Amino acid sequence: MRVYNFAAGPSTLPLPVLEEAKKDLLDYQNTGMSIMEMSHRGKAFMAVNDEANALLRELMNIPDDYSVLFVQGGASQQFAAVPLNLLQKGKADYILTGNFANKAYEEGLKYGDMAVCASSKEDNYTYIPDMKNIKVRSDIDYVHFTYNNTIYGSRFTELPNTKETLVTDMSSCILSEVVDVKKFGLIYAGAQKNIAPAGLTIVIVKKDLIGKQMAICPTMLNYAIQDKNDSLYNTPPCWPMYIAMLVFRYLKKMGGVPAMQKINEEKAKMLYDFIDNSKLYKNNVNKKDRSLMNVPFVCPTEELNAKFVAEATANGLVSLKGHRLVGGMRASIYNAMPVEGVKALIDFMKKFEMENK
Ligand SMILES: *Cc1c(COP(=O)(O)O)cnc(C)c1O
Repeated sequence: MRVYNFAAGPSTLPLPVLEEAKKDLLDYQNTGMSIMEMSHRGKAFMAVNDEANALLRELMNIPDDYSVLFVQGGASQQFAAVPLNLLQKGKADYILTGNFANKAYEEGLKYGDMAVCASSKEDNYTYIPDMKNIKVRSDIDYVHFTYNNTIYGSRFTELPNTKETLVTDMSSCILSEVVDVKKFGLIYAGAQKNIAPAGLTIVIVKKDLIGKQMAICPTMLNYAIQDKNDSLYNTPPCWPMYIAMLVFRYLKKMGGVPAMQKINEEKAKMLYDFIDNSKLYKNNVNKKDRSLMNVPFVCPTEELNAKFVAEATANGLVSLKGHRLVGGMRASIYNAMPVEGVKALIDFMKKFEMENK
């Protein structure tokens, strides 16, 4: 039996995609083998690479002067790849809104003169700092921020008000809401949250920013080389790219990102409204900054949190334990989580509240 899986990542995938992959597993398009077993330079896989690239461009409305790269190493690798490729003046500013934002900043410190231009650390990352009046240093190469904070459950609803190049980590929200790619110099995302299995990382970068990498930039992290080789400089993550292609086809069929955004807003509203109206559960994030994808909540005691997670699991609602930095519970409700899954969670939460008043 399939469960409703609220894992933060790797996370649930759309059932029709898994069924399609299962069908293809022993014999992909009459090749007599699976996509996992064939050359990445053969005709069948090259078509996957091209279609995945074209579909992502279509879904996100990515302009022609941007490159779309499929690489490995996870979003964490991009914490280094970004400064190694983009630093010209040697300076960048970082907005600290959570654990991954911090990690990106700390990795960046190895390569340049990095500064924190805004932070919500003093309030345990329960809000997004004011972006209208943000002050960044002059002569910087970029401003980095984490669009959706997977662990703390917050997201940016407004971009930093600056003319500097914007770089953002969209690992846990890519394709969940409409974004105007033109406003960014670079967007990166690990695929294992809202797209595909672990192993694939997506980089969307404005072409005029690449080819100016630092001399020490490893070949594998060099965006210009990945771009010139259509992400096939070496063996790419073939299987996650194939699943990504299926997910992109599925999203297109569902009506694209605007349709997903509508469903995601509906799912998040149902869950937050329920939490806000309950006496047992609490979400501590500033209302306007709440994530559409990751919804943390707590009960009043550790005992109740543990009981909640155990009983939810027994009821087919799994991976609800919160991140150790926040505690309590976290429901990750990515694109692939159906409305019915969120309804089932709310029904369970109601029942648990009744039984534990
Ligand atoms: C999960 C996550 C990461 C880390 O991703 P890896 O692919 O495991 O390196 C980075 N940033 C955000 C926002 C994430 O959610």
